Amino acid sequence: MNSLEATVRIDLPTLVASARRIADLTKVKVMAVVKADAYGLGAPAVAAALADHVQGFCVFHPHEAAEAGLMGLNRPIIALGPPDRAWGESDYKRIGVRPAVSNVQSAKSLAGADPILSVDTGMQRFAARPEEIDQILSLAGCSEAFTHAIHLEQVTLFKQIVGGRGLMLHAAATALLGEPTAWLDAVRPGLALYEGAVRVTAPLLEVRESRGPIGYTGFTAGRHGVIGVGYSRGLRRGPCRINHQPGLVVEVGMQTAYVDLTEFPKAEVGDDVTLLGDGLSSAEVAGVWGCSPQEAMHRLARCGRRLYVP
Ligand SMILES: *Cc1c(COP(=O)(O)O)cnc(C)c1O
Repeated sequence: MNSLEATVRIDLPTLVASARRIADLTKVKVMAVVKADAYGLGAPAVAAALADHVQGFCVFHPHEAAEAGLMGLNRPIIALGPPDRAWGESDYKRIGVRPAVSNVQSAKSLAGADPILSVDTGMQRFAARPEEIDQILSLAGCSEAFTHAIHLEQVTLFKQIVGGRGLMLHAAATALLGEPTAWLDAVRPGLALYEGAVRVTAPLLEVRESRGPIGYTGFTAGRHGVIGVGYSRGLRRGPCRINHQPGLVVEVGMQTAYVDLTEFPKAEVGDDVTLLGDGLSSAEVAGVWGCSPQEAMHRLARCGRRLYVP
């Protein structure tokens, strides 16, 4: 695997094990979130690997379901985002995607596509306010409702708003998987499926004993190396692993980046710099990058050529 660029290894057995672990923990339905091309990891391969181990799939836009080939996988599919104006009831039914409805207009027009009620508990987008819910439910005849919740209080509010009506309810994404009262009738993990199953590496293309200020920024180091991935792929300055030890990506150019090798006298050309995995989590990267772990995962997933480990 001697690429000049980075390699994104997606370990499919680990992905499946994550889904099974979540199912064993929660004992409710697992609806795998494979939106945005499975966070950049390639939704067709990810969904095919997960199909026998989850009870459904979630995308954002309905066309993502078609692109990921979800229709052939025989699992319920939900489009979590706002209904696509170009998509009628029959379009949703044809590809077997259930739309999320959050207003009277879409409840009316999509009632025949087995829609799901999206309830606002704080995100204040693409979700119904409490006072609209009775009307939407009676128009759309929903059997299921969900909310996009980050905090447990939102789940409590969700249950207050739509509980006791015999609807199937779900709220928990990765952030609430540790909260049993948030599991309800199903969970919708995205990041929790992918974390631990992805390793992003790039080989050192050059290693040099440094002389004075280096690169665009003039950083200094005793020794430095260069990898063949840069900000054109979404990489930023931040943590890495070099020979399993914590290291630093010190400067990022368009298609290359410098790593500080001062503490790595034995590192040589061809050694892998790990940008995700090998003990480096998306949360650790995100902490330094100043973004969410989901964003870090998505950026890193696009850093190189995908390699699915079967
Ligand atoms: C993206 C998304 C999820 C999954 O989020 P993670 O935090 O990655 O698990 C679940 N539900 C909704 C509505 C989403 O938009």
